[in-house]
Amino acid sequence: MEPLLELRDIHYAYHSRSGETPALSNISFTVHDGEFIAIVGPSGCGKSTLLSLIFGLLPPESGTILLRGREMKDSHTEIGYMLQKDHLFEWRTIYQNVMLGLEIQKKITPETKERVEKMLYTYGLSRFRDCRPSELSGGMRQRAALIRTLALDPELLLLDEPFSALDYQTRIAVCDDISSIIKEEHRTAILVTHDLSEAISTADRVFILTSRPATLKTIIPIHMEAVDRTPLKSRNAPEFKDYFNKIWKEMNTNA
Ligand code: ADP
Ligand code: MG
Repeated sequence: MEPLLELRDIHYAYHSRSGETPALSNISFTVHDGEFIAIVGPSGCGKSTLLSLIFGLLPPESGTILLRGREMKDSHTEIGYMLQKDHLFEWRTIYQNVMLGLEIQKKITPETKERVEKMLYTYGLSRFRDCRPSELSGGMRQRAALIRTLALDPELLLLDEPFSALDYQTRIAVCDDISSIIKEEHRTAILVTHDLSEAISTADRVFILTSRPATLKTIIPIHMEAVDRTPLKSRNAPEFKDYFNKIWKEMNTNA
């Protein structure tokens, strides 16, 4: 089957008056429908840059990005982007916030409204629809941000360290929560994180990047025996520690 996303030999550098900062070098990979990919790499290596290219915010300097076999400019593939900050507006209610993307893209129809209603209900936010973001916990806000992103029915979700602003305890719970929703909604996701545990517990494959300019060093497929795998269960799975050690080692050797 044709991959949802394919990167071929991507290079990117930032240019400024003081010179050139190479950020990505020779990056190639494919992502198939339904996969959950985690990208890990040292801070400042180029992870966010990579997502910006996939989203189309930055053009690659050389190389090709294909969405379902089409170049970005000819593609109709909807991509959702979620960042560390939830970017919910305090002057809008939760309902008005989750409808925002649809409103901007002029896609409010009975069907899209129903989809949002259903997600608010399924994911426990119906009761808070008329609340302001500040009345919700960090985890609930992140869930609202995800529903807003999913409302546009994206085929591919890009998540840039979406949990890193949360405290440790909340972070594990929210990560479990958000990745379960993504799986239930049968989405394809690319999660950028610097947290190895987060990567191993959520992903089908972990991509390890080198320090800047980022190259794709290794891809580690994650297999857990547990039948109904959730991030929380994965953290307690016997395989978890081996993966952790393996990825840790990969990240800390300059081979
Ligand atoms: P990461 O997300 O892995 O922490 P980034 O992709 O944000 O890394 O950045 C990669 C490198 O590119 C960093 O060294 C950063 O300083 C540099 N960089 C990021 N954005 C810009 C920019 N707009 N102009 C110049 N350099 C930038
Ligand atoms: Mg970043």
